[in-house]
Amino acid sequence: MNIIIFGPPGAGKGTQSDFIVNKFKFFKLSTGDLLRTEIKKKSPLGIKITSIVNSGALVSDNIINSLIEKIVSNEEYKNRIIFDGYPRNLPQAENLNKLLSNYMQKIDLVIRLKVSLNVIKKRISGRVVCSKCGNTYNEYFNPPKKVSLCCQKEFLNKRDDDNVDIAIKRFETYEKSTEPVLDFYKQLNLVKEVNGESNIDDIYSEISSYLNVIEA
Ligand SMILES: [Zn+2]
Repeated sequence: MNIIIFGPPGAGKGTQSDFIVNKFKFFKLSTGDLLRTEIKKKSPLGIKITSIVNSGALVSDNIINSLIEKIVSNEEYKNRIIFDGYPRNLPQAENLNKLLSNYMQKIDLVIRLKVSLNVIKKRISGRVVCSKCGNTYNEYFNPPKKVSLCCQKEFLNKRDDDNVDIAIKRFETYEKSTEPVLDFYKQLNLVKEVNGESNIDDIYSEISSYLNVIEA
């Protein structure tokens, strides 16, 4: 089986896909990782990508597709790919379907981690770090325990990069661009919606149950 995981930035998509990779032995395909690997290899394509990225341009769909094809065509990863952050738009989704069918594969499951903007805002704006021990907390979801002598209010700092406005923008962009992609997979009856606001273990066991059904 091949799966896609969708979720807005801050939804915990990375954590969940790492669980799946470890437990179910998947290959995580992220286009960012593929590009970075190619750049590091300094292959002819890698050198080309470096110059595109340095010029500030976007890497073309053609290049992305050829990198994805390398993975899809690899017997080692056959029917064992989890797509993370891809496809991002409808043409990419249609193209991915074609590419997979060329190698006698398909998408079997699309997981949509649903998290509201309100929760994402709290996850980001509530994040505090103890300046003494470096522990991180969240004022809303995971406040420091009162008994702790170390992590008291006067030592808790908000991090500089906790920019809620940027998070809101990324969330809105995400929702807007992935909606048509999700509709595409809904028509194929592949989408399972998972409440990304419950705790990490519950989210994972729900996802696992879907995977187990397909594996059986
Ligand atoms: Zn502390």
